[in-house]
Amino acid sequence: MGGIDDILAANEAYAENFQHERLVGRAAKGLAILTCIDCRIDPLALGGLALGDVKVVRNAGAQLDENSTHDLVLASHLLDVNRILILPHTRCAMASATETQMRDIIKMSSSIDVSELKIRTINNQEDALVDAVRKLRSNPHLKEGCSVHGGIYDVDSGRIKIIEA
Ligand SMILES: [Zn+2]
Repeated sequence: MGGIDDILAANEAYAENFQHERLVGRAAKGLAILTCIDCRIDPLALGGLALGDVKVVRNAGAQLDENSTHDLVLASHLLDVNRILILPHTRCAMASATETQMRDIIKMSSSIDVSELKIRTINNQEDALVDAVRKLRSNPHLKEGCSVHGGIYDVDSGRIKIIEA
């Protein structure tokens, strides 16, 4: 399956019964979540949230980088976000291998040389999370009063373990 015909067919059905036309672009629960792209994570369901409640920023490993920082800072000023949860997860591929191992895996499966690609693996997930929370809290551009929290989502139990309250 390479195309997106199945997605477009499903979208037809979705649009037939569309009921969210009155939603606004601000986060109704004042929340933003930075999490991983992992498909085991449902950012709405895990916190009892609905469409319109939360801004979700995702990247491989839930990393606080230049892009995600940019999005979260803007969300704090423009989209009613006053609390941010940084939420990496257990068994994350980004925290389970070294850059060299990842490059080897890609090379072996595709024969494509990615030695120039910055993989950005995470050495110690908890340490990285604590660093990210503290770094974002001290970001001078973040809206005053916006709280930053850090937890690790367990993909086997569905529970969030708070690392930085
Ligand atoms: Zn992940």
